[in-house]
Parts: sequence; structure tokens; C-alpha cells
Amino acid sequence: MAIECLVLGSGQDVGKSCVVVTIGGKRVMFDCGMHMAYQDQRRYPDFSRVLAATGAPDYTSAISCVVITHFHQDHIGALPFFTEVCGYHGPIYMTYPTKALAPFMLEDNRKVMVDRRGEEEQYSYEDILTCMKKVTPIDLKQTVEVDKDLIIRAYYAGHVLGAAMIYAKVGDAAMVYTGDYNMTPDRHLGAAQIDRLKLDLLITESTYAKTIRDSRHAREREFLKAVHKCVSAGGKVLIPTFALGRAQELCILLDDYWERMNLKIPIYLSAGLTLQSNLYYKMLIGWTSQKIKDSYTVHNPFDFKHVCHFERSYINNPGPCVLFATPGMIFGGFSLEVFKKWAPSEKNLVALPGYCSAGSIGHKLMSGKSTGIDYKDTHIDVRCQIHQLSFSPHTDSKGIMDLTEFLSPKHVILVHGEKPSMAFLKERIESELGMPCYFPANHETVSIPTTQNLKMSATERFITSCAAEQTKDRLQQGNLICGNSVSEVNGSEKLAEGILLMEKHKKPKILCEDELLEALGVERHSVQFEPMASARIGAADDSEELQQADADDLESEGKQMKL
Ligand SMILES: [Zn+2]
Repeated sequence: MAIECLVLGSGQDVGKSCVVVTIGGKRVMFDCGMHMAYQDQRRYPDFSRVLAATGAPDYTSAISCVVITHFHQDHIGALPFFTEVCGYHGPIYMTYPTKALAPFMLEDNRKVMVDRRGEEEQYSYEDILTCMKKVTPIDLKQTVEVDKDLIIRAYYAGHVLGAAMIYAKVGDAAMVYTGDYNMTPDRHLGAAQIDRLKLDLLITESTYAKTIRDSRHAREREFLKAVHKCVSAGGKVLIPTFALGRAQELCILLDDYWERMNLKIPIYLSAGLTLQSNLYYKMLIGWTSQKIKDSYTVHNPFDFKHVCHFERSYINNPGPCVLFATPGMIFGGFSLEVFKKWAPSEKNLVALPGYCSAGSIGHKLMSGKSTGIDYKDTHIDVRCQIHQLSFSPHTDSKGIMDLTEFLSPKHVILVHGEKPSMAFLKERIESELGMPCYFPANHETVSIPTTQNLKMSATERFITSCAAEQTKDRLQQGNLICGNSVSEVNGSEKLAEGILLMEKHKKPKILCEDELLEALGVERHSVQFEPMASARIGAADDSEELQQADADDLESEGKQMKL
């Protein structure tokens, strides 16, 4: 049996994660993401390749199930398109928080595309709702039987609320698809956690394949220092974030700092999803970090003391403040509106948490100091300070290596990364961990051989025959001869030779030599080989040279016979 892995998205790239894995006739689609950098058909995975590869008439018969790891658009953005436009009607799984939060994220993204960018609508809000109704929510570590052969299980991935790594097993073949994960806890989420599983294949993200991150505390201190300095001098701080994730992380950090330093300057959340999403965090407290879970009965850290709602009219208010505004990266919407107002003053600060994609104002600000930005038809005067924070919810290269070593799969496939860094990590995985590693491009297929385990019974006589002398008695006395292997009784591994008997409609069995003879109804017999060399030596009296040559042959023949 082999595991076939067709990469439809996130191959040597970050965006539209989608990997279709075939194991023992079952086909699982891991993630169904959208590429945010494209506005044409390249934004979706090329699903038709699944039909072309399988010859199936439609997606429902081609795919056994779809599993979504988390609510980020590059992992779920194409799902309503796949179900409502392409017509997939099979099972879809995601964790409870992902199912709860995904409709908001999908609708928010749809509005940005259609209302703000004026793009053609790919799917409607009704399509999102109909699609989400088809989703079966799952819990962590819950074993789900998709059908009698295929099981899946979700493990905690950190990263964002509800993110999961997915284990899938068919027969003896098993694999894990990580999605995005974080191996270190942050202020609101725990670190990824998974059991030590026996795996043929690990498909892991590799966003930071080459980077080892510095300490979180140093980054946090630096951020707090920059914010404190700005507001003490009477400036305003704009933090453009997406509704879920960094906003909550940084709110906890600032609220705590404000309390300790007894600061009275207001911290605001803009309208949009942020206040509503804090409610979700409160409801889904079980999915946050251990520290939050332990303390939330006394104090829920999402009940912020110093954080309040921002009214649009506050934009022109004098005096210092901190404002979280959506969307992140400043690619439109309210964060852009505020940026236009606040950027011309050198007293103000724009703090950019995390990655900003090309084309956004955030990306331009990160690329270098400029005094002005031209965006669409307007020129924005930029004199404010810029602070870049590296708060990333992805694991770094040490985390990827640690997880891979811990799981010790037979093969590794890297996705969700940049090609040169992936090549670097592949080298490390192969040389340091000794595992074959691949990083296929989009639309490439990797075929992984799997080992097949065969269950068989060993006869009592066989087990006794290969046990050491002193254990034979104990085996018989303790009645351990059935059900336990000799190695367990001995406490150490023991190699034994036997004969595998496979009969139609019967369980394979291992026998001793004489048991096989009995089964075959034959007696032991031996075949003797007589070397014919002496006769040849006697007959060959033509020349001495020939005799010598024959003698050499005989010597080597003799050695082989002895062996
Ligand atoms: Zn993600």
C-alpha cells in the first residue's frame, strides 16, 4: 500500500492550503484555503485535478471527507466555493471553535472582496451558512470514524483559537497533517500537543523553516516600552490587527501592563469583530492556555479592565490613547481611515504585529522609512513612528524539528513555506533525523510506501523452542505461553526463526520446522551432496597447471559447502 499525496495549494508557497491524501482507497482533503494574493481563478485550489487523477464523476464520490484545521482564510476560504459551487456534499470536519468562528471570518473576507474591492461575488452569505450547516464539529482527541476503514482525530495546535493538527489512519497506514501550529505557548493559547503516534507520513507547515525566534519576553518588553514612550509624550498608538488572535494576545499584555503601571490612558477596540470575538474567547475558554484555564474562575483575562469601545467620533479627540483597529496590515477599512488621520504626526506610533502581505500599507511601512504613501487616489503624509513586532503564531524551525523528532515518522512532507527555506529544512531533516523529506510544488504528487503489519499467531511449540532454557519452565508454569510474546516474558528482544504458514481463510501462523513436517505429513529427510572434485582430480592427469586450477576451485567450493 502507498500513501499518495497531491498538493493543490501551499506547495512551495504560503496561501490556499489544500492537500489531498489517498490512503488505502480513502481520500482525505486537508484544508480548503484561498490565496489572498490572487484575484483570478488562481485564488482557489484547482479541484479539477482530483477528478482528473481519480477518474471519479464528481467530488462527492472522489473525496471521502474534508478536514479543516483552523479558521484562517488560507485554510478555509475556498470551502463554500467547493461545496456550493463545485457541489461537494460529503462529510466535512472541523473543531467546535472553528465551526463557531468560521462564518464570521468567511463573511468578513467576502465583504472585503465584494464590497470594498468591487470584485465579482464568488459565493454569497447564504452559501456560507448552507456550507457551515454541512460541517460536523469535533472535539480534541475524539476518534471519528468517517467510515469503517478511515478514522481521524484532532490534536491541539496552538496557533489560533480552535486550531488542530489532524491524525488520519486507514488500516496500518497512518499520517498527521499539522496545519499551522505553535510549539510555544503565548499569553492566550497553549503550545501544540500530540501523542507519540506511529506514522508513515508527517505533513508539516514550514513558514519559519529557517528562523529561530528570540525570547517572547524580550519582544513583549520592547513593544510595551515603545507604546509607553509614545503615550507618555502625548501621542496616539494605532495597532492594526485582525479580529481574532493578535488582538487578544496584545490586549492581555497591555491590560496587564496598564494595571501594573497604574496608567489611566484609554485603550480602545474599534468596532468590527473584536468585542464580539472577545465574547467567543470567554465562551471557548477551554481552548485557551493552561494559565488562563486555571485562573479564569477568579478572573477572566478577556474581561479587560482598561479596554473600552471606540466611537468613530473619537478619531479627532485630543490627547494620548491606544487603538486596536481592523483590518490588520492596513489594506482598507477602519484601520486605513485612522491611519490617514494619525500618520502625519511624528508624536504618533503605528505598531504592526506580525506578517503584512505585499500590496498592503503595512507592507510598505515595514519595507523602509518613507515620508509619504500613495494609496489609490490619495497621498498620505507619513511622519509617525513605526514599530514592527514579530508576534507570530507559527512555530519556528526548532519547533518543527522538535515535533518531527518526537513523532519520528517514516517520511516528511513540507508545505506552507518558501522554497529556499524548505530546501534548507529538508536537508536538516534528512541529515539530522535520517528521514526522507520532500517539498512538492503545487499540483505535484508524492507517493509514500507504507509498511503493512500482518497479524499472526505463533504455535506454543514455536514459542517454547525459541525461548531461552530457563524461561521455558516459567512460560509453561505461568500459562504465559499464549497471548504473550517471548520477548515480553524475557524482558528483552529475541530473534527467532520460524516458518510462516499462510492458508486460505485461516489466520497466518508461525511454526517450528517439525510442526511443518507434521502438517505436510512427511518425514524429515536429508539430502547429501558429494563433492565430485576427487574424481575430477584423479582423471585430470594431463597437466600440472590444470590440476592446480582444479585444486583452487575445490578449495573455494569447499568453503561454500561449509557455509
Ligand atoms: Zn493560520
